[in-house]
Amino acid sequence: MRPGAALGLGIVALSVAGYWQYMKRVGREAREGRRTEAVAPEVAADESEFATARERMVSVQIEARGVKDPAVLKAMRAVRRHLFVPAAELAEAYEDRPLPIGDGQTISQPYIVALMTELLQAKPGGRVLEVGTGSGYQAAVLAEMGLEVYSIEIIPELAEAAMDRLQRLGYLAPTEGESGGRNAPGKVRVRIGDGYNGWPDVAPFEGILVTAAAEDIPPALVEQLKPTGRLVIPMGSGAGEQDLVLVTRDEKGRIRTRTIVPVRFVPLVHAP
Ligand code: SAH
Repeated sequence: MRPGAALGLGIVALSVAGYWQYMKRVGREAREGRRTEAVAPEVAADESEFATARERMVSVQIEARGVKDPAVLKAMRAVRRHLFVPAAELAEAYEDRPLPIGDGQTISQPYIVALMTELLQAKPGGRVLEVGTGSGYQAAVLAEMGLEVYSIEIIPELAEAAMDRLQRLGYLAPTEGESGGRNAPGKVRVRIGDGYNGWPDVAPFEGILVTAAAEDIPPALVEQLKPTGRLVIPMGSGAGEQDLVLVTRDEKGRIRTRTIVPVRFVPLVHAP
């Protein structure tokens, strides 16, 4: 046998042996009651493929483009993005682009999620607001960073689907009634409504992310920023390209804006 063929056969034998060992372990753990989730071994095998795709997404799309904050990279590695996309898009979950999530809306490109999160510079325990919950993915990334997250979505069906998903993954805060109105680090509270006016009852925020494109900077959002707080918002008119803008507020309440990169978001809906 040629050495190349022998090597090939060796690799196949090792993979079969590895898979067999894995299946035996799954069986053993299930019998011992250590595996309570109703996951078929095929799905568990998919999980490891998704994990590989996610690792590649972080190194190739995010780190290579200059996102450095270790907490952001860790959160992007942790959140299982494939659980936030419709079944039809599963194979695309870790691709370098936004994906449709229904109602004409999209889950943002992974790099943009990471960049916006890095721009916030929020510290664990900090309180942040997101306008445009969509799939709930960005909110989960913020929660994974140990932030106390508030998120507003104007389309009720999307808000409800996001709440379900966040609940199943352990990111959803208890309802306002149960918790006496409080939220906690690592948890998300979702509200259905127009986020243009922010969430005054729980303001001020260390950071605010708007994940839909606005034609002006919503004044209420600037008011609801803490001194030294940061607002990240795509600015520009509906259809074309917009600019991702960072708005900062200094100790004296002075506002600065800085343009970061061109982006493409769905429009922020707001009745004038
Ligand atoms: N952050 C989301 C992607 C958001 S897409 C994710 O991680 O999946 C933008 C979302 O903003 C859409 O779901 C849209 O319905 C919502 N939106 C648009 N205008 C809004 C408004 N005024 N208030 C709250 N949500 C709004």
